[in-house]
This record gives sequence, C-alpha cells and structure tokens, in this order.
Amino acid sequence: MMDIAIVGGGPAGLLVAARCAEAGLDVILLEEHPVIGEPTHCTGIISLETAELTKIPDDVVLKRLSRARLHSPGGESCDIEWDANGREQVLAIDRGDFDKGLAAQASEAGALICTGVRVSEVSIDEDGVRLAAGNHVLRTKACVLACGVSYRFQRQLGLGLPGRVAHSAQLELDAAASDWVELHFGRSVARDGFAWVVPVARGRRDRLKVGVMAAGDARVYLDRLLGRPELRRRFEAEPGPPIRRLLPLRSIGKTYAPRTLAVGDAGGFTKPTTGGGIFYSLLSASLAAETLIEGFHEGRLDEIFLSRYEQRWRERLAPELRAAIWFRRLLTRLSDGEFDAIVRMLATDDMQALIRRTARFNWHGELIRAVLRQRPMNRLLLRVLFR
Ligand SMILES: Cc1cc2nc3c(=O)[nH]c(=O)nc-3n(C[C@H](O)[C@H](O)[C@H](O)COP(=O)(O)OP(=O)(O)OC[C@H]3O[C@@H](n4cnc5c(N)ncnc54)[C@H](O)[C@@H]3O)c2cc1C
Repeated sequence: MMDIAIVGGGPAGLLVAARCAEAGLDVILLEEHPVIGEPTHCTGIISLETAELTKIPDDVVLKRLSRARLHSPGGESCDIEWDANGREQVLAIDRGDFDKGLAAQASEAGALICTGVRVSEVSIDEDGVRLAAGNHVLRTKACVLACGVSYRFQRQLGLGLPGRVAHSAQLELDAAASDWVELHFGRSVARDGFAWVVPVARGRRDRLKVGVMAAGDARVYLDRLLGRPELRRRFEAEPGPPIRRLLPLRSIGKTYAPRTLAVGDAGGFTKPTTGGGIFYSLLSASLAAETLIEGFHEGRLDEIFLSRYEQRWRERLAPELRAAIWFRRLLTRLSDGEFDAIVRMLATDDMQALIRRTARFNWHGELIRAVLRQRPMNRLLLRVLFR
C-alpha cells in the first residue's frame, strides 16, 4: 500500500507530491489528462511572492507586468502601479510550462506521476483510502483532493461545496500588445465580476489573453468585449472559441476528513476579489504537505489530527478572506454610475499614494481597509452597503 494518492496534477497537487516525496513518503499522483499542464485555462498572473513557495524558472515568464489600468463603464480610468513601491514584481507565466516544471520537481523527488488516469471513485475506511480509475483499484493510506473545480468527491465525503462560484470564459490570440493589464468593470461588462485584457509575448509573437469572470453566462460578456472596436482593431487573428470554466470564490465547508485533505481550487482557495488562485493553491498545498508529513511521522491520519491543516490555513488566510469576501459583496451591489465615481476617486493623488503604500498582489485586506477609511470613498461604499 502506498502512502499518499493525489487526485489531480495542477499546481496544488504537484506541490503536495513534491513536498511529501522529498520527505520520504511514497506518493502517487493521478492526472486525468495525458499531458501535465494541458489544456490550460489560466491567465497565469502571479507575483514574485510565489517564489517563496516554489521556483519560478525564467523560461516560464511570458511578460513582466508593471501596472493594471482600471476602466469604469462610463469611461473613467485609473492605474494601479504594481512595482511602484519596489515591493512587488508581477509576472504573466506560461501555466502549462509552470505545471510541467512542478511535475519534474515532484518526479525527481520520487513521486510517481500517472497521466491519462481519471479517478472515478474515492472512499475511505478504517484501514485506508480506496481509489478507482477505470478497471483499476488503488489502496493508499491517505489521499489529497487536488482535482480543481470538480467537487463530486468533496460532496460524497461530506466536505461540501465552495460557498460561492463565478463563471469564466477566456481566449488567447495574436494581437498588438500594450505594457499594462486592462481591467473593465460594470454591470453590462460583467455582472458581479470583471473583464481583463492581458498582454503576453510568446517568443516574438505579441498576444493578448482576453477573459471575463461573471455571474451567469461569461461567454455572452466575452463576446460583447471582443466586439469593442478599440479592442478589435488590435487583433491580428479572429478570436477562436474560449475556454469556459467555473471559478470558486469561497472555500468548501470543510477541507479535511479522515485520511483526506482538499487543496487548491478543490478546497475553494482563491482570492475572492479576483478569483486568482495559483498562490493560495500553492500555499494550501504546502500546509497540507506539512500536516501529512507530521501525520505519517506520528502515525496519525485521523480527522482530529488532520484538522490541523484547516487551523493552519485559517490562521494564514481567514482575516484576508473575510475582508475580500466583504468587499466582493459590496462590489456586486454597485451601479455603473457608482463604479464611475469609485474609479474617479481612485485616480486622485491621495488615493494613488494610498494604493502605492498598501496594495499587494496577493493580500488585498490592507488596501480594502485603507480605502474604507478614506472620506468620500467610505461614504459612498457604506451607502451602497446599507441601501
Ligand atoms: C479563466 C481563469 C483565469 C485565471 N487566471 C489566474 C491568474 O491569472 N492568476 C492566478 O493566480 N489564478 C488564476 N486562475 C485560477 C487558477 O487557475 C487556479 O486557482 C489554479 O489552477 C488552481 O490550481 P489547482 O492545482 O488547485 O487546480 P487545477 O489547476 O485545476 O488542477 C486540477 C487538476 O486535476 C485534474 N483532475 C480533476 N478531476 C480529476 C480526476 N477525477 N482524476 C484525475 N485528475 C483530475 C484536472 O484535469 C486538473 O489537471 C484563473 C482561473 C480561471 C478559470
């Protein structure tokens, strides 16, 4: 019987595999697709803080991004300079190559990576975990759910579903690039979400990733965005069909069970403000690996012991998630006119200085709290909240 089976070969599953194998555990990872990192649904924007959790090889970096330009529905705009305070570098990476690099690291550490294997059943008993894939059955001592946005096993094991999800649609095409990321807001742009245009470079080819996250049919909003003349003008190819996908915006009810932990999107770990999840996936994976390594060391894979994992991620993420969930709720109530007013306020010198002091790519709580203390802004937002 092997020690750990990991269901899913995205960043979360691969980092658990690497860390646990490095600690001497017998690890098998099962990925349904034939090739790790393909297909890729992700925009791949991360900050260099991610390098604290895993290596980011230079050759996976597609572009260094210095700022985001926010656009309101009525034509207001303002910039958020990511590296203005010298604290952060923001990168667009090739998600497929990044995942392949993590897989190589896990294999080198001794993890067995099996691709083209779709797990169809996970059940837990006194003696171990039983996983079925096609006609094959595998028994291991512990299991990690790292299967992204499919929540069947979590539901079956009583772990629940993410508290909130959004829909997304994104495509990539040859186009004239800019140096900044565009973020578009407004009810008709993307209800309860936003749209993005992200420049990347593949060799000498400039390309754009254009996507939408929204409540409801994200494809409809994406088609509307792609039809804008100012964007169309930049395309050097006709847009193909987008990749559509769910995005969890809140954690699942419980992220541990006897012999089992849920990590990354499978645990519902993304930033509730933007849906960005690579950093939280890797962070939850590293905390899950730490807990499992201790559990094997102490001969404890019971539910009470594994609940340490949830305590750990809550200690790191709970205040941040609370602020971000609260702010997201507020954003979903804004009218287009209120988006205009907010972007106008964010463009003022005082607000720009405050953004430079407090904005961090992975941690939005400090900025949210600082913005809410500012006079005209807090009046507007509190009015929205209590109406
Ligand atoms: C449109 C879009 C854009 C995004 N852009 C960004 C971004 O710019 N920055 C950022 O930080 N985050 C972004 N995210 C979020 C980010 O992609 C996810 O948070 C991240 O991929 C989560 O990693 P993961 O390992 O948990 O899951 P995944 O990367 O989804 O990996 C899960 C793997 O499990 C496999 N799997 C599922 N079920 C089974 C099964 N039964 N058997 C075997 N294998 C299985 C899947 O095939 C998949 O390979 C974006 C998400 C979307 C939808």
